[in-house]
Amino acid sequence: MTTIAERLQSALESIAQHCTALNKSPQQVALLAVSKTKPVEAIEQAYAAGQRLFGENYVQEGIEKIHSLQHLKDIQWHFIGPLQSNKSKAVAEHFDWVQSVDRLKIAQRLSAQRPPQKAPLQVLLQINISGEDSKSGVTDNAELLALAEEVNALPNLTLRGLMAIPAPQQNEEAQRLVFNQLHQLFELLRARYPQVDTLSMGMSGDMQAAIQAGSTMVRLGTAIFGERQKNT
Ligand SMILES: *Cc1c(COP(=O)(O)O)cnc(C)c1O
Repeated sequence: MTTIAERLQSALESIAQHCTALNKSPQQVALLAVSKTKPVEAIEQAYAAGQRLFGENYVQEGIEKIHSLQHLKDIQWHFIGPLQSNKSKAVAEHFDWVQSVDRLKIAQRLSAQRPPQKAPLQVLLQINISGEDSKSGVTDNAELLALAEEVNALPNLTLRGLMAIPAPQQNEEAQRLVFNQLHQLFELLRARYPQVDTLSMGMSGDMQAAIQAGSTMVRLGTAIFGERQKNT
């Protein structure tokens, strides 16, 4: 059996290899460890192995873990799941980042509900690049730029970039096209907002194509923590 530390190590090695092949520094691609459905002990093991960025999808579950691990002060907690309005306050109070901001109303609530003594909430706008009905997110350039402008003006949020979960494609070439499209949107945003520096795309199966297309953060769950019980 492999341990979480070993799987983490090999994920970091793959990222480093993909970066090296592109003449990039491995520091240019961050690893978000997606710990949804996994116990606090699994997060502690990853932390002990040096991991600091963790992603959670479910508000209640995430907050319970944040409370249990509040002594680990340098963990950076990312909320990456669908966010309903009635849960925005809990997220604004506990997380450091929200990657799944997909509409102005949610952004306004997060800003209003962010405790003033905390640093601004770091946010990514979620792009529904494949135009899937089942996924939330912005679907076209004009909509993205309009949302970005309003989010950027909110006092307690810092707009850092984009996140997407592209639909699985037939082959690597098709996958690369989608990632390139996302990268173009990211560049569009970055040209307007100097603090934008994060393009969160790429998961276990498509990490290489995502890094080639300019991902700055890959999100890995199963590859680090093993299979999940629930089908999520
Ligand atoms: C679950 C999840 C991941 C990680 O998925 P794995 O297949 O376990 O690597 C990444 N991003 C998001 C938004 C997720 O919900």
